[in-house]
Amino acid sequence: VIIVIRKEASAEEIGTVETTLKELGYGVHPITGVERTVIAAVGAPGHDKEDAAEQLRALPHVEDVIFILKPYKFVAKEYHPEKSTVKVGNVTIGGDQVVIMAGPCTVESREQLLTTARAVKAAGATILRGGAYKPSTSPYSFQGMGLDGLKLLAEAREETGLPIITEVMHVRHIEQVAAYADILQIGTRNMQNYEILEEVGKINKPVMLKRGMTAKIEEWLQAAEYIFIGGNKEVILCERGVRTFEQYTRNTLDLSAVLAVRELSHLPIVVDPSQGTGRASMIAGMSKAAVAVGADALIIEVHPHPERALKDGAQSITIPAFDRLMTELPAVAQAVGRSL
Ligand code: PEP
Ligand code: MN
Repeated sequence: VIIVIRKEASAEEIGTVETTLKELGYGVHPITGVERTVIAAVGAPGHDKEDAAEQLRALPHVEDVIFILKPYKFVAKEYHPEKSTVKVGNVTIGGDQVVIMAGPCTVESREQLLTTARAVKAAGATILRGGAYKPSTSPYSFQGMGLDGLKLLAEAREETGLPIITEVMHVRHIEQVAAYADILQIGTRNMQNYEILEEVGKINKPVMLKRGMTAKIEEWLQAAEYIFIGGNKEVILCERGVRTFEQYTRNTLDLSAVLAVRELSHLPIVVDPSQGTGRASMIAGMSKAAVAVGADALIIEVHPHPERALKDGAQSITIPAFDRLMTELPAVAQAVGRSL
């Protein structure tokens, strides 16, 4: 239940409401907004909702009491009506500016990574992507460089100043990946790995949660709730396409998910047109569409030689193609009241 505190209440008065809520048996999670404070009270005691509501409405300094009937609370818009933002270095995800994350699907070598990092930075990207631990459908395909890949990412950050985003695939790697990454990516295959979600909930680094390839929006938001409950509020969602009957594209990129997330949640939302389509020829078009529909950021796979990429070459764009896209995106951003 969300308790809306009267605008004029002082910090001390808000404190007395919190104390009373705790005495009534609620877990108390205050959130201080620009306009006013609301308190999320969870784990209502054993009496019925009507009684609880009456009791809470009677508290001093309380303006309103709202029951959230959704299966997620903290990531719900009711809890935090303003959009939330996640800061990484001097990059803000969820603000007016659309953030571009770009880089190779997978870190393959120093030369491949540094060449790509320099190029995407020069073109205007502000976050570098690159997988060190790679989920693979086939056990025979390249599994990533692991720790050596993380070290190369750190070197690329050192040189370019770009913060890095990289995937964590296993609970036992969280500490290691968090020591190198600026944002931890949870991949589509792990969206419902509740053990990982709980663990990244305890760390002090932003997490980008990709949508499970067969996950409903509600399940995705429930997964984000796991991270939030652990105490980590720096959660970013990423739409990366879902499985449908269509086979021409690798996945069906669900751009309506951006609007759905906007309607239901305060979390920033990123679109991944690379996994979303599986086709380099579609990256520019879907990137522009994603910005037009209101995505807060894009994550794009770029490779100096896509034809030689160890992974996802077919959906990686070349450096000149990325340069071109970066000159086309500002006009789209501007048309929807954003900048790049
Ligand atoms: C990736 O970003 O390269 C990746 C493997 O993503 P996903 O988990 O969405 O498939
Ligand atoms: Mn990939």
